[in-house]
Order: sequence, then structure tokens, then C-alpha cells
Amino acid sequence: MILLDGKALLSKIKLSLCKEVSLLKNDNKRPPHLAAILVGDNPASQTYVNAKIKACNEIGFESTVINYSTNVKQDVLLEKIKDVNDSDNIDGLIVQLPLPNHIDEHLVTHSISHKKDVDGFHPINIGRMVLGLDCFLPATPFGIISLLDEYNIATSGKKCLVIGRSHIVGTPMSILMSRNTKIGNATVTLAHSKTKNLDSLTKEADIIIVAIGVPTFLKSHMIKKNAIVIDVGIHRIPSQSNKSGYKLVGDVDFHELKEKTAYITPVPGGVGPMTIASLLQNTLYSAKKIIYSHT
Ligand code: NAD
Repeated sequence: MILLDGKALLSKIKLSLCKEVSLLKNDNKRPPHLAAILVGDNPASQTYVNAKIKACNEIGFESTVINYSTNVKQDVLLEKIKDVNDSDNIDGLIVQLPLPNHIDEHLVTHSISHKKDVDGFHPINIGRMVLGLDCFLPATPFGIISLLDEYNIATSGKKCLVIGRSHIVGTPMSILMSRNTKIGNATVTLAHSKTKNLDSLTKEADIIIVAIGVPTFLKSHMIKKNAIVIDVGIHRIPSQSNKSGYKLVGDVDFHELKEKTAYITPVPGGVGPMTIASLLQNTLYSAKKIIYSHT
């Protein structure tokens, strides 16, 4: 079993992004700038935004967090998004999900200009991804592709099962794995909550990507030997042996199943850091376009 170490790859990507920031500086240009909107006081959301901002600071990107209380009006959020869309100094904008129930998540995320949509959620970016055109790839699937590439995993002709069909992970992941690209060319099955006999699909799959939000769902008896397992899930569960009182687990029963796999992502330290890496890469990509469009 080989661990797919997202934390190590994030460090490597950060080094190359630091160099890109130096190149911009040498060219008398400003650094890339990521803005994040955080609504409410959900501890998990705060942790995710903090991790993204910390990564920006470490590599010399500018960052701005825009905080709102849980009862913020939707119009206020939309107005702020418009300001950021119009700003020449901000290259990427993310809105940390989930949002409170009174806010239309789709309306808000789709109000971000597709040119600054570094999470890759906007319909224009999704559409361009489907057509294989230049776009911001959705951050988590992009990170998974980068991780498979880093470990030279051959995906062509392999049976790839994606479990979970969310707009931000499962659905785009299934599209990327079936594209005619180096990491791609797999024969993809997309399973979801209405799928019957899931076990028969998991047992056949060479690559299994699980993004369902159910702690330790995928078990050893469900996979074939030497499968490649990618765990997108992330959950805090109570744990007395940890000082914090909780531990992180994924959608995969890592300890029970790891020895049966050829490659597996840990939680934490697998897909999570790769989502951050993609976000930073997308922000740099946007910054270069915005900065050099003014020269
Ligand atoms: P979601 O929660 O929006 O949707 C879950 C999907 O799983 C649905 O399509 C549903 O049909 C399917 N599903 C649920 N139970 C199932 C079952 N028993 N069998 C088959 N399919 C089932 O999905 P999401 O937003 O992609 O999140 C999934 C998990 O990934 C969550 O734990 C989330 O926190 C995590 N996540 C992690 C990262 C990261 O960077 N590591 C990024 C995004 C999401």
C-alpha cells in the first residue's frame, strides 16, 4: 500500500507558487489576491477558511476574509460579491459553504464572476470543463487529478467508480476521469444514493473515489485487492484519545481497508490539502490574466 500524500504535494506546489510570486515581483507586479466570504460561526467553515488564508500568507499571496453574521441579508452578500467582481486588485473569490438556510447557495455562488471563480463552481466554468476548454477546474476534483498525476497512476482503460454526485465533487470528478487526457480515459461509473447493489460495483472497480459524506462508509469487503482508493469525505467524530476531543475520519474506513489497496489517500492529509493547492493554482492563473491584461 502506498499513501497518496496530499500534504507533501501541497508543500511542493507551494514552493513553485512562491517562485511565481517572485517572478511577478521582479516584473514590478502585485502578488495574486484571494478573497473569502465567511458567513456565521460554523467551526468547520472557520477552520477551512483559516487553512486557505494561512496557505496564501505562506506563499506571499494577498488574502482578505470578509466575515458576516449568520443573519446577514442575501442582498448584502450579493452587493459585496459585485464589488469584488469589479475590483482590479482581487483575482479570486470564494464563498465558504454551507450558507444559512435563508440564503440561496446557487444564486450566491453563481454571482461570482466566472473570471474570479477559483473554486470552479460557476456554470460557465463547468460547461467549459465539459467541453475541454480553458477554465477554472473545480478545486477538489482538480486536486485529485494532480495527486494521481504526481504518483504516475495509470488511469487509461481502468474502471473508475465515483460514489456521490454533488455538483462540486462527484459529478465533475466523473467527467474529468472520462476525458481524453493523461489522467482520464477511464471507464467511469457514477453511483449515488439511489444506486442498487453498490457492492457489486465497488468490487469491480480499479479506482474508487468516494464523496458521499458518510463516515467510514467504504469497508474492506467492498473492494477488490489492489484497488486505488480516494477518500474525499471529512468528518469530525468524538475521540477521547485526542486533546481536542475529536478526530477526523473520511468516507472510507481507512484502517480496516488500507492494506488491501495499492494506493490510498489518508484523512487528514490526502484530498483536503489538494483542494487548497488547486485553489492557489487557480488564483495564480486568474492573477496572471488580470495583471497582464492591464499591460
Ligand atoms: P454532498 O454531501 O453534497 O452529496 C453527497 C452525495 O453522496 C449525493 O450525491 C448522494 O446521492 C450521495 N450519497 C449519499 N449517501 C450515499 C450512499 N449511501 N451511497 C451512495 N451514494 C450516496 O457531497 P459533497 O459536497 O461532495 O461532500 C461529500 C463529502 O466530501 C463530505 O464529507 C464533505 O465534507 C467532503 N468534502 C471534502 C472536501 C475536501 O477538500 N476534502 C471538499 C468537498 C467536500
